[in-house]
Amino acid sequence: MQRIRDKGIKDPLTGEFNPTFYRNVNPEDMLRDLSTRYVYQKHAKDLVRYYERFAEIFFTKPQLIQSESGHKRAWICDAMRRFGEYYDRKFHNPELRILIDEVIKRYELNKKIRIHDRIWLADEGYIEKMVFQILEIDGELGIIIKFAFFSGLRGEEITYAHETEICDSLMGCNCDRLHIIHKRNGISIIVLNRLVGQKHSYFTMVPTLLWNEFRSLKRVTKEERKIAHVVLKSHTGGKATLMDLRKFHYNILCRSQIGETGAEVLAGRAKSISAKHYLIHELDKMSEQYVKCMLQTYFK
Ligand SMILES: [Zn+2]
Repeated sequence: MQRIRDKGIKDPLTGEFNPTFYRNVNPEDMLRDLSTRYVYQKHAKDLVRYYERFAEIFFTKPQLIQSESGHKRAWICDAMRRFGEYYDRKFHNPELRILIDEVIKRYELNKKIRIHDRIWLADEGYIEKMVFQILEIDGELGIIIKFAFFSGLRGEEITYAHETEICDSLMGCNCDRLHIIHKRNGISIIVLNRLVGQKHSYFTMVPTLLWNEFRSLKRVTKEERKIAHVVLKSHTGGKATLMDLRKFHYNILCRSQIGETGAEVLAGRAKSISAKHYLIHELDKMSEQYVKCMLQTYFK
């Protein structure tokens, strides 16, 4: 409370100091602001709803949030951070944003968040930090790890993408080899069209440079994947595994212009009909969006 007073954090309604300033936030205004930042209205709505439910607890008894599930904590942290940014944009005062960040760190609200749920939206800052740490890993294992992150493929699919012969003809060919489209923007589209049991993978995209490095590796079998997994785990102090890279990929794409549907398609979870639609009609747009959210941010 002292901090709220000291840092000039004002009540949005009265413009005065008020220990319960967060109650006077206009959820509709916050929604309007966030909506311009997300493709899907629902995502912005969910964030505002989380804010409304948890702001009071967050600013008064944040320790109570510790007992919530990882999934919920992540949403709460995300909602509070987005609120801090909204507040900063509106009142030109970054102090609240900094305070929120400190509360999250001090009460370890995003600690030991493990990823199990299918659509799991981890705290954005946490993902970014983890990914940068993961991308530090060099050498051949680094290439496997980077490929896992940039493609979002499952373990077996990674090996499949490495071993399967490449067909020379482009779209429209129905053979069971890989079909690759190299885009001028530095992205390669890898059409796997693979279905094993319930697990589909239609196509994915990766930076072309990475694709070439990946394909020139000698072996990417289960064994190499296992070693990559161990190295990754020790490099991140047990916080991330090879499987988590697929989740990070999904989460980043979900928040980008690609949105939930596009992310589902790339993760091989959408119906094949919508994957085909994307492949035929949305590919240019999608690869441009991918350049923005993945290549420019993470590919060095
Ligand atoms: Zn073919």
